[in-house]
Amino acid sequence: MQRTILISVFLTLAYFFLSGCGNSKKEKQEVNNVSEETENPHNTQKDSVIRCSTMEVLQKHMAKNPGLREKMEAIENHCQTFVQLRKSGKMQDLDTIMIPTVVHVIYSNENENISDEQIYSQIEVLNQDFTKSNTDLDQIPEEFSSLSTNTKIHFDLDSIIRVSSTRTAWGTGDQMKFSSVGGSDVIDSSKNLNIWVCNIGVGILGYAQFPGDNAMTDGIVVSPQFFGTMGSATAPFDKGRTTTHEVGHWLNLRHIWGDGNCSLDDFVEDTPPSDGPNYGCPTYPTVRCNTNDMTMNYMDYSDDACMHMFTEGQKNRMRAVFAEGGPRESFVKSMIP
Ligand SMILES: [Zn+2]
Repeated sequence: MQRTILISVFLTLAYFFLSGCGNSKKEKQEVNNVSEETENPHNTQKDSVIRCSTMEVLQKHMAKNPGLREKMEAIENHCQTFVQLRKSGKMQDLDTIMIPTVVHVIYSNENENISDEQIYSQIEVLNQDFTKSNTDLDQIPEEFSSLSTNTKIHFDLDSIIRVSSTRTAWGTGDQMKFSSVGGSDVIDSSKNLNIWVCNIGVGILGYAQFPGDNAMTDGIVVSPQFFGTMGSATAPFDKGRTTTHEVGHWLNLRHIWGDGNCSLDDFVEDTPPSDGPNYGCPTYPTVRCNTNDMTMNYMDYSDDACMHMFTEGQKNRMRAVFAEGGPRESFVKSMIP
């Protein structure tokens, strides 16, 4: 997107201020989005499915923790500095980053107690999607194919923790992350990506926590029927892309439409502006905000089989969290023996 740093920072501040006030802009955006979704001919979302609850969870966390807004502003400033250095060529391409990954399976029945193989299938998808080795790259339209990139971020399954529970739905209140209330405690989130696989309920596929938030709840949550590519994974969300999308948030990516109208940014230069999510398997071109939407980006809401790429700009944004002074710098430091 054609945006200056100043505009990005301003919008960040404006967004945080308005959403933090509990009013208004954000709520109005959500209202607008609802009406747009009703009218949008590209929208084929089923009423029973909510692709991602990350932004709603962020609002709840900000309401409980006023210091979070300031911390995320600092992370945004750090990120933009990193991105500018990369663009100027003053910072060389970076080495591969390995992310130790802990999967917590919290189940109330055998369907939810997904197999090791289903978990392996998800780790394989993450490693393909983040290294541009997914097998559906040829479906990216020519307009965007040169922007598709290898983020050089790898995921290494460290351990699987299984917890039996009588609870059948966990919602988005993070209780699955605490053994004291029947969940499973986080494993050192300064060195591990924690993934909780449990039934969130009310049609929610997954949610993530952005960098800078509470270390005790840091990670992502995905319902078992949308995790991996086999077993209980259910179409059209059975290609592992819910987890790819949520890990994108965990690495500081925003939704590709910037969670607002055409003037709100996802803080990434090479993604086109948009004013809302796309659902189903959109046909190319899908025109919104006078440009073609990158509906096949992992940070849109398209069906799993119809998302195929991160961009170079998104890569730089994700890599920034591991740079010196970044919120996940400890992952890189822990790689050094
Ligand atoms: Zn999302």
